[in-house]
Amino acid sequence: MVKEKRRFSLSNLFRQTTPKPQDRTIFTPGIQEKDTSYLLTSPVIYHIAQQSTIVRTCITQLKQEIFRRGYYWEEKFVAKCKECNKEHSSPVKECADCDSPNLKKPDAKQLEYAHTFMEGYINKSEQMFIDVLKELEDDLNVMDDAYFVLVKEYFLDSNAEIKMHRIKEVYRGDPVTMHIYSNELGERGLEGYTCLKHRNHISSSPVDICEECRSELYPIHYVNRVNGVEQYFIKGEVLHFSKYSPSRLYGLSPIITLWSNVTTLLAMENYVNSSYTKARMPRGLLAVQTRNMESMKSFWRGVKDKMESDPHFIPVMGIEAENGKGSVEWIKFMDSLKEMDYIQVKDDLRDRISAFYGVSKIFMADNSASGGLNNEGMQVLVTNRAVEMAQTIWNNYVFPFMTKEFGITDWELKLPPSEEEDEVATLRKREIEVNIAASIKNLGFEVEMDDEGRFSYEKPPPQPEGQPAREEGGDAQTDPYAGTNIDASQMGQMQEEMLSGGGKTGGEGEAKGVPEGDVREGGDEPKPQKNPATTRNKPSMATGPDKRFSGLPKDAGNENVDKRTERRVG
Ligand SMILES: [Zn+2]
Ligand SMILES: [Zn+2]
Repeated sequence: MVKEKRRFSLSNLFRQTTPKPQDRTIFTPGIQEKDTSYLLTSPVIYHIAQQSTIVRTCITQLKQEIFRRGYYWEEKFVAKCKECNKEHSSPVKECADCDSPNLKKPDAKQLEYAHTFMEGYINKSEQMFIDVLKELEDDLNVMDDAYFVLVKEYFLDSNAEIKMHRIKEVYRGDPVTMHIYSNELGERGLEGYTCLKHRNHISSSPVDICEECRSELYPIHYVNRVNGVEQYFIKGEVLHFSKYSPSRLYGLSPIITLWSNVTTLLAMENYVNSSYTKARMPRGLLAVQTRNMESMKSFWRGVKDKMESDPHFIPVMGIEAENGKGSVEWIKFMDSLKEMDYIQVKDDLRDRISAFYGVSKIFMADNSASGGLNNEGMQVLVTNRAVEMAQTIWNNYVFPFMTKEFGITDWELKLPPSEEEDEVATLRKREIEVNIAASIKNLGFEVEMDDEGRFSYEKPPPQPEGQPAREEGGDAQTDPYAGTNIDASQMGQMQEEMLSGGGKTGGEGEAKGVPEGDVREGGDEPKPQKNPATTRNKPSMATGPDKRFSGLPKDAGNENVDKRTERRVG
């Protein structure tokens, strides 16, 4: 049976969609409140975070490290094809996809407005850009919700459509009063509509017009409810983001999770405070069972007098008891700090809180655990990860939103890692790059360097036969093997190639910077080995790591050292 052939056209296809999962935390469409099942409202959370020494220490240190080295603009690509829009990350002559030579560099003009905007104060409250970022970072660490607000000015055409906008100011939105405006699925911009000029006006229909100015309405994405007024924000004006628990709506505050740790610490500190500042309760009470009250009183008076003149006086007291039941008892009122394991408990609580934020103790000037500076490198590394995690949020969520709103397509705004790169390591890396370039040139490629120092390689067009394969002075003079991890098996191959190339131009072997000893052994014609090895011609890699680079970061050293190259250097 042959299947009946049916032609498809769009008219006989039915469109079906997967249902969108409902969210149980959304009850009513419109303004979304934060989950209050912990009975902790946002102002309470802020209050506790500000009260706690350890929380503030952690988030301040974190914030300091994240923004320590400011921000910078980076090219998004080296060359972009004008035909197919492919972005190349290394310099090329023609597009790798469509072979078009029509390429463009990142447009520096795009940055002009953003540069001048971000140089000075970015809002009328005279805040610097980095100050707003720091405020937002604190919001993330306390509430796990932050609102980045762009104040724009709009240019409308005669049909009241937004044709252009310009960013005039940048503000932090307060997570206590800012809310997401969404429908029951958490989708924004489908539930309410507002007027660009009258931001407290709201309508449920997109076809309505503003009652005051008769202009069109735009979908609401966020609302700020403060002092009894509601300000509505449309798409592209506000960015909400979370760091620890991003979700369809809000994040989850770390303070809620650390609640008992933080409040216990606060209570402990208050206890110490009151026991030092206020008139404290007597430490305890000495209860003496006696039948002769008067003699006890007079004896004790004598002891007190003696104690005043000699604090080390130890009184000895005999107790008369007729039935042998007399006794002295010490009744304690307050446990001493030591007996309550105060220090250990406090340490443990502090550790838990700082571990959550990824701030290691050494950063809090606590060297008790490690031997001075020995441990520092390791400790700081933990914090680097916390910094990296935070910077990822900025680099991947916030800055792309911002550059898009600025209309910047060719550049990326970035936060540099807090640890500066070792300068020697950078130079060493550069040396390796140059050596690789030299090796590739010696393999017969054309090497070019662009203005940023990046190398590009190209195969030269094949030479007609009978002519020397290489032009004069074509060889680089650098030792091609320094800093590379080419092993001896590859080295032999490369030497063969070079020798055969050099043979044609008349034995230039020595001038090429090829190590002398190796070349002479090989002679003009490579001879087979007298006692051929049964295994692969590869030297043992048992030699330990290179000692010359001790003290430098691991990346800087060429660890791939075998015995032969070692000998050659010496
Ligand atoms: Zn292309
Ligand atoms: Zn209006």
